[in-house]
Amino acid sequence: MSGTELAATIVKETAERAAEFERRTGTKPCLATVLVGDDPASVTYVKMKRNRSAKAGITSRHVPLPAETTTEELVATIRELSADPAVHGILLQHPVPAHIDERAAFEAIAPEKDVDGVTMHSFAAMSFAEPGFASCTPGGIMRLLDAYGVDPRGKHAVVIGRSPILGKPAAMLLLARDATVTVCHSRTQDLPSIVRTADIVVAAVGKPEFVRGDWIKPGAVVIDAGYNEGNVGDVAYAEALAHAALITPVPGGVGPTTIALLLEQTVTAAFAAS
Ligand code: NAP
Repeated sequence: MSGTELAATIVKETAERAAEFERRTGTKPCLATVLVGDDPASVTYVKMKRNRSAKAGITSRHVPLPAETTTEELVATIRELSADPAVHGILLQHPVPAHIDERAAFEAIAPEKDVDGVTMHSFAAMSFAEPGFASCTPGGIMRLLDAYGVDPRGKHAVVIGRSPILGKPAAMLLLARDATVTVCHSRTQDLPSIVRTADIVVAAVGKPEFVRGDWIKPGAVVIDAGYNEGNVGDVAYAEALAHAALITPVPGGVGPTTIALLLEQTVTAAFAAS
């Protein structure tokens, strides 16, 4: 399953909508990017998101903050962006330094500007299948399933990982689409046996090639959301390929769809605010 191809389609449509927004309002959609500290991976991610935004006709307002920023200072900064009518979407790059209360910072994002889908409001919207913004990686996963004609209804989906930005919202989106969902985590017993019963496997663990080929039921759909050092996913790709009907590669699978969703949701937020 090519996330690169799907992302290109989403970004093209998004750029057309961004141009339409600019024609109507005289301004470009605006994404605020907040980065605390200078973790090299986070710096690279934010740079990439800003470059992609610019290419799609979305302007970005970058707010770099020192690593020593307190929770109170960060919350105050995000509240200001939430109240600023010139800002349509807010991205707080994750993870923030350990001394910061990340949940408090996320919750300072106004729900209508939560284009990365990290607030409790957005999680509830995903869980209740109500309108709202999706967490970008899980949202990208659902778009990949749709693009390849995989209807989750009635299927057994096994999500490995329960993080607030990936595993849990992915499980909620699958449940909202009538999959029977099992969520696994580090305390799950006999994980391989559970995965062997899955029609759809979502790997969101953060451990290179953790999911082995002989865990995959013949004909299953395998979504590898993992991204580990050396461009390696959470699934042993070559092994799993022998069993799966469809599988996402790393890189070029889930990753590109994540940024595409961020851009798409930013333009949606801009239209909703105009
Ligand atoms: P995370 O917050 O570290 O969560 C990892 C999850 O995996 C946790 O729920 C953990 O369980 C579970 N886990 C750990 N060891 C396990 C084991 N032995 N068996 C079963 N479950 C286990 O990571 P994350 O932020 O969700 O990211 C997961 C992966 O996705 C990483 O590789 C990350 O780089 C990648 N990612 C990719 C994108 C993208 O754009 N493509 C975006 C975000 C993340 P507990 O809850 O019990 O600890």
